[in-house]
Amino acid sequence: MSQTLSSLVETPIGVTRYGLFIDNKFVTPQTEKYIDVTNPATGEVWAQVPDAGAEDVDLAVASARRAFEGEWAGWRAADRAKFLIRFGQAIADNADEIAQLQVDENGKLIREMAGQARLMPEYFNYYAGLAQMPTGNTNPLHLKDIINYTVREPLGVVAAITPWNSPLLLLVWKLGPALAAGNTLIAKPSEITPVSTLRIAELAAEAGLPAGVFNVLTGLGAPGAALTTHEGVDKVAFTGSTSTGQAIASAAGKSLKSVSLELGGKSPNIVFEDADLDSALNGLIAGIFGASGQTCMAGSRILVQESIYDKVVAELVTRTERIKVGDPQSSDSEMGTIACQAQYDKVRHYIEVAKNEGAKLVAGGVPAVVEGFENGLFMRPTVFADVNNDMTIAREEVFGPIAAVIPFTDEADAIRIANDTEFGLAAGVWSTNIQRAHRVAGKLQAGTVWINNYRKTGYSTPFGGFKQSGVGRENGPNALLEYTEEKSVWVDTGQGVKDPFNPRA
Ligand code: NAD
Repeated sequence: MSQTLSSLVETPIGVTRYGLFIDNKFVTPQTEKYIDVTNPATGEVWAQVPDAGAEDVDLAVASARRAFEGEWAGWRAADRAKFLIRFGQAIADNADEIAQLQVDENGKLIREMAGQARLMPEYFNYYAGLAQMPTGNTNPLHLKDIINYTVREPLGVVAAITPWNSPLLLLVWKLGPALAAGNTLIAKPSEITPVSTLRIAELAAEAGLPAGVFNVLTGLGAPGAALTTHEGVDKVAFTGSTSTGQAIASAAGKSLKSVSLELGGKSPNIVFEDADLDSALNGLIAGIFGASGQTCMAGSRILVQESIYDKVVAELVTRTERIKVGDPQSSDSEMGTIACQAQYDKVRHYIEVAKNEGAKLVAGGVPAVVEGFENGLFMRPTVFADVNNDMTIAREEVFGPIAAVIPFTDEADAIRIANDTEFGLAAGVWSTNIQRAHRVAGKLQAGTVWINNYRKTGYSTPFGGFKQSGVGRENGPNALLEYTEEKSVWVDTGQGVKDPFNPRA
């Protein structure tokens, strides 16, 4: 548990209480209401954070607006780039602590978090480079003696609303391009995982970011909702569930804010009979049981060709039963916890629904017993075989360690089942036939397709969804443009306006 945040206050129940982070300092919320932060591996409350109200939202927005128009506006792209590199270095210097904070919040494995924390600076380095790339054009015209050029200006105040499964990495995906382009931000982390975001904001301040450029509002859904309708907010960058994304899109639509949405998924991971089966099985396991299945890109529908179906299911069960569920802090553990009680209850509910609808439970389906962690939210990785794509388990996002295995006959059948979903975030294709792999990738309705691998993302490549999985893309060069407004400027280099009724003269 972190002891380095500067806002430490002991509460009557003996846990650390944090403030909101506004104007580079921790402040007491106007509401004076707090939320408990619970370690899902132990069941212990280890911190409290404010549940921000409308007045706190106003203060944060006013601070971000002042910053946008103040000293920050005078920073050149080169200054912002240098800051991003310093910020990345600050994260690298504190990577162990940051990783630890997130493990205490959501029960992700420390070994996965250690890798993620070390990768975050690379995102900032990438956007530091892009901050100084030209983003405008000089446009050839049909007119004489006129120059037209475009400039990309920052949008203004960005609300960055994030979920609990990867609170830091998904925030970094927004922070890098938003700051590189010159915006200010208000982060609203999930109520399950707020402390790690507060720490990141503190590091940004220590790395020299002017007050108000990066504020943090903690709380339940209400401060997020208030940001999406606030007239002082210019863009909402959201990652979370499809239902919240839909609510945000319609709320933000009233004030015509720019919105980007990274939402849920029900991704197909397709194994053809010509696949390298050992590699495919590892990919299936990584796709659905990595981070206890709590990833938007989880390969939760495993589509297997009929000719190898029994063999793949049998081997999947064997490998699933070997998975070591345990203490997220231990380097031996292969799966940590479910992040919170509500999600744990939801996962168990879907197991019952799948059983009732006739899916065949072939592995897991029960809580995992972890010695010394009797109050932890551990589940055994679960496999349902003989799933039909119409069953609830194949249609709704569980966001937990449940694989639904669905047989298919041939390539056309695989593509039909894969695309028969309201989601379109990601897909996997396992085949050693290069023509088939690319042909199928071309027909899948998904923002990301992995061929003979799964669950990879990077700063230089766009990530986002088709259909109900989202709007817009994060990462890659174009993400920077999503945080800008394009302005077109016309310059007369000739004789000026000679005839008011004939502008072309
Ligand atoms: P969620 O939608 O419940 O909450 C996300 C955030 O929105 C939280 O900070 C929450 O407090 C806030 N919020 C809640 N109601 C709001 C409202 N009306 N207006 C504004 N903000 C509101 O999602 P979650 O349960 O935290 O996260 C899990 C979901 O996130 C899954 O569906 C998963 O697929 C998705 N996700 C998507 C991606 C992606 O990149 N596509 C990545 C990770 C997670």
